[in-house]
Amino acid sequence: MVLKEGGSSIDAVEAALRAFEEDTSGMFDAGRGAMVDTEGVAQLDAAIMDGRTLKAGSVAAVEHIAHPISLARLVMERTTHVMLVGGGAEKFAEDQGIKLVPNSTFITPERRKKYEQWKAQHEEQGSHHLGTTGAVALDLHGNLAAGTTTGGTSWKLPGRVGDSPILGAGTYESNNLGCAVSSSGTGEYFMRDTIAVDICHRIAYLHQTIDQAADFVIHTELKDQHGDGGVIVLDQTGHFVARFNTKAIWRGSIGPDGIPHVALFHERIA
Ligand code: ASP
Repeated sequence: MVLKEGGSSIDAVEAALRAFEEDTSGMFDAGRGAMVDTEGVAQLDAAIMDGRTLKAGSVAAVEHIAHPISLARLVMERTTHVMLVGGGAEKFAEDQGIKLVPNSTFITPERRKKYEQWKAQHEEQGSHHLGTTGAVALDLHGNLAAGTTTGGTSWKLPGRVGDSPILGAGTYESNNLGCAVSSSGTGEYFMRDTIAVDICHRIAYLHQTIDQAADFVIHTELKDQHGDGGVIVLDQTGHFVARFNTKAIWRGSIGPDGIPHVALFHERIA
């Protein structure tokens, strides 16, 4: 809707991710419905980046911010910094007139139940849950933007920060390099391989298509590490790809024709 009305890609990314942060369906790991850490607390991470200016903002380990993606945008627009974390980020939010919310706002009954089950199973780290939400957009002026917002991996240690708010790892985007990337998966692998910026460098410097670049990082780099996850990538012609080595990634895209496409598994969408 934002793009259709001539709005900027950064506005579109923020609007899309705010919707995920509000969603309580249990499908998404962001805002309300976020995964919780070993203490049963939701600690949220988010980043947003504007390809035209290369300006970016991110927040990490915030516990009382209803819309971390919007706070990340304020960090980008109203400070000289890129990243604020924890109490400092929340103090900045209050200074900007944002009301803090209780941490229980984010913890849906379903997440609480899963947490209790995990505690009862003697806190086995075996399987963790993912579901980060990301958005990439290209506006009518040819500007790209990318953003990611998440509760991180389930049963993470308090204070653990994943790839999502780390520029170049879980989120990256540049008009000059001609690509916008957001990723989801076990963030430690994405940070070690700096997956998001690697895709952009492959496109810009090795002249790979976004399909080739995304294929390589997911099916070679990530695979070599036995990592799990996926990426959504958009280039400056509006070509969109999703690549992942997990069973599924819920995803959708809308091109200039305005027709929405959605997919779950490995089917290709426009
Ligand atoms: N990438 C996120 C993290 O490691 C988790 C996810 O994708 O759900 O924090």
